[in-house]
Amino acid sequence: MQTEAFEKKVWLSSPTMHGDELRYVTEAIETNWVSTVGENLTELERLACGYTGCGNAVALSSGTAALHLAVKLAGERLYGQPRAGHGTLEGRRVFCSDMTFDATVNPVAYEGGEAVFIDSEYETWNMDPEALEKAFGIYPEVKLVVLANLYGTPAKLDQIRDICNAHGALLIEDAAESLGATYKGIQTGNFGAYNVISFNGNKIITGSSGGMLLTDDREAADKARKWSTQSREAAPWYQHEELGYNYRMSNIIAGIVRGQFPYLDEHIRQKKEIYMRYREGFRDLPVQMNPYIEGSMEPNFWLSCLLIDREAMCRQVRGEKEALYIEEKGKSCPTQILEKLTWCNAEGRPIWKPMHLQPVYRMNPFVTKDGSGRARSNAYINTDAAADVGADIFGRGLCLPSDNKMTEEQQNRVIDIVRGCFQ
Ligand SMILES: *Cc1c(COP(=O)(O)O)cnc(C)c1O
Repeated sequence: MQTEAFEKKVWLSSPTMHGDELRYVTEAIETNWVSTVGENLTELERLACGYTGCGNAVALSSGTAALHLAVKLAGERLYGQPRAGHGTLEGRRVFCSDMTFDATVNPVAYEGGEAVFIDSEYETWNMDPEALEKAFGIYPEVKLVVLANLYGTPAKLDQIRDICNAHGALLIEDAAESLGATYKGIQTGNFGAYNVISFNGNKIITGSSGGMLLTDDREAADKARKWSTQSREAAPWYQHEELGYNYRMSNIIAGIVRGQFPYLDEHIRQKKEIYMRYREGFRDLPVQMNPYIEGSMEPNFWLSCLLIDREAMCRQVRGEKEALYIEEKGKSCPTQILEKLTWCNAEGRPIWKPMHLQPVYRMNPFVTKDGSGRARSNAYINTDAAADVGADIFGRGLCLPSDNKMTEEQQNRVIDIVRGCFQ
């Protein structure tokens, strides 16, 4: 099969501006409200509450900053205020999603805590409730769970929440990738005590950067807002009773996000069409799309991903920084497909490499649904699938070009490129 390269790059997921953004940014500049106070911020926080149904929204400089403050709020609520120079989670274990972007879990380390990674399940690719239950059996003292909704697909949120409640643990929901997705009719970003969304450049709507903390706890929202502006007290000078951060969103960025919000539903519709076209286009290939549980959840379809059937995997090995594969008729692997996409000027991406396989977290515990720990293989393939779901999905899966500006014709060519890999 001969596929010509795309003249213009087909992106994984790039920003889509509509025009209103410029109007709000211009207004901010013309009225000189360019700092961390202004109408765009006020309106954006109002819009986010209205859309998600959450009681309070705090606009911050990034999703990572929002996660940091969420973790701090949880840490202080559970364990009290630490001495200056000490983290709120020092010496504490926290259960965390394993297959996710590292921004989900890094704030636990910022606060001196130890992340215990919980394996994923095959039905939504998110934290496995069974493995979480096992983890509470092994570490009954744990009081905090940090969970991500991967690629816009909600986790099994009822089960996760029930388990947390049964063990008296707080939940932080990282909805950075899932803004607009619903679980049993409820928007993600509502299931934790503290929840996070992101407006990073490749998310479903963007401010070029930015993030938000969502919580129904008014006092917690006020505290986060204060921490995010260096923890200034109401005094005539700079008076500080608590550690502060420079995490507040600027009114300029807020203008961009404010202009994007009305287009969120449109972006979701486009992303869903892309997902459905892929699913149809791959129907007779030995692959499946990133799955969700129909009837109980509606993803935002941020990224379309595929998982190659075990029998249709050619041989592939991954070291820490390089990958090799051996071509085989009728079979393929993520490395081959990603390579072909790159050659054709289209952008794919491997699945998030699980945290328990990351060198930075090599000493952290990892719990699977059979209750066992740590990765046993560095090859990430032909591993005992049930024993390490994250490594298995990482080995066989990849993210496809999912840009909402990709035309149907371009997508059909992407589908042809993938089909070509299996010939
Ligand atoms: C993007 C992302 C974040 C971090 O958001 P930033 O705004 O880039 O800091 C956190 N968690 C997940 C799962 C993400 O995809």
